[in-house]
Amino acid sequence: MTGTDYRALDARYYMPAFGRERMLVKGEGARVWDDEGNEFIDCVAGIAVCSTGHCHPHVVEAICRQAARLIHCSNLYYVPGQAELAERLVHHTGMAKAFFSNSGAEANEGAIKLARLATGRQRFVAFEHGFHGRTMGSLAVTHKPAIREPFEPLEPRCDFVAYGDLEGLKSVINSKTAGVFVEPVQGEAGIITPPNEFFAGVRDLCDDAGALMIVDEVQSGMGRTGTWLAIQQTGVSPDIVSLAKGIASGFPMGAIVAREGLEFTRSQHGSTFAGGPLACAAAHATLDVIEEVLPMVRAKGERFRSALSRFDPRVRGLMIGISVGDRCGDVAAACAADGVLVNCAADGNLRLVPPLVITDEEIDRACVVLGRALDG
Ligand SMILES: *Cc1c(COP(=O)(O)O)cnc(C)c1O
Repeated sequence: MTGTDYRALDARYYMPAFGRERMLVKGEGARVWDDEGNEFIDCVAGIAVCSTGHCHPHVVEAICRQAARLIHCSNLYYVPGQAELAERLVHHTGMAKAFFSNSGAEANEGAIKLARLATGRQRFVAFEHGFHGRTMGSLAVTHKPAIREPFEPLEPRCDFVAYGDLEGLKSVINSKTAGVFVEPVQGEAGIITPPNEFFAGVRDLCDDAGALMIVDEVQSGMGRTGTWLAIQQTGVSPDIVSLAKGIASGFPMGAIVAREGLEFTRSQHGSTFAGGPLACAAAHATLDVIEEVLPMVRAKGERFRSALSRFDPRVRGLMIGISVGDRCGDVAAACAADGVLVNCAADGNLRLVPPLVITDEEIDRACVVLGRALDG
């Protein structure tokens, strides 16, 4: 089938919820190829998902080996690899227990349910420009009016406060607040971070109000910023952390990890697929790779920073944002034409979230291309 035929088929049979042009057919490390044979350095990485690069041999082997042994068994039985994976996540995040899901949104649904159970309260607070997912509950705590308002009324009830505004948080958090959702780095907003003190302030206000601090690390977690969690760089210990994107190299998986004392008891939550044998195998192999490359992540981010310094990038490990404004789409297109994939997050912010395994040579080449596009 030609590319043109494929696009016609998509237009005819697939709901047009995504604006897309290119078709990617193959990947290796930080490189991908499209259906016309063009090669790219991939600074999108499936939206911060393919942290170990595309088709890392260790991940491919783990998935294939597990697929030949047991693909699915449901959570009616102990799942091979699941408890060990929970142990590894708990160890790396400093939390006490884990629970698996199939996506980031579903992880946040779990956090909403856990916070409501633990506090007996119903309301939430979240931040402007924050993103927590598109299922009804996670959408209710997602700020962007264009994606939320068509589906109102939504549950749970949520108040939105400017990101970084502790006074604003103080004015809405109260004895009805079950939890506060916060990203340590706002990813969809374009790699935005408030000062570190903000997170200590959120922690204090949550403690004063008896609300849980729920940190959404779906995008910033799993080593993306140079530590397992971005919040670990602030010294603040949350009550619940949600994870997904980078956790299993593209095999769909999410998780919540929670501090001691916060857990679902029998039949309070569940899922047919979540934490299945294949997902766990993919995640274990992913963790093996991240454990190896994590010490280099910050230096790679700094390499981007120095090469792109004239564009004033916001760099948190390998989460990189550049304010470009209205020409963001044109810049991204120019980069693609020149062999580098980047995308535009909200408000004209160019976003780079390359695989954590990207090489120095690939970083240098990507930055030359970016520089040309941004200067042009
Ligand atoms: C992507 C993302 C989500 C939603 O994850 P899905 O797997 O798409 O449901 C939630 N929170 C943050 C911070 C994200 O970046």
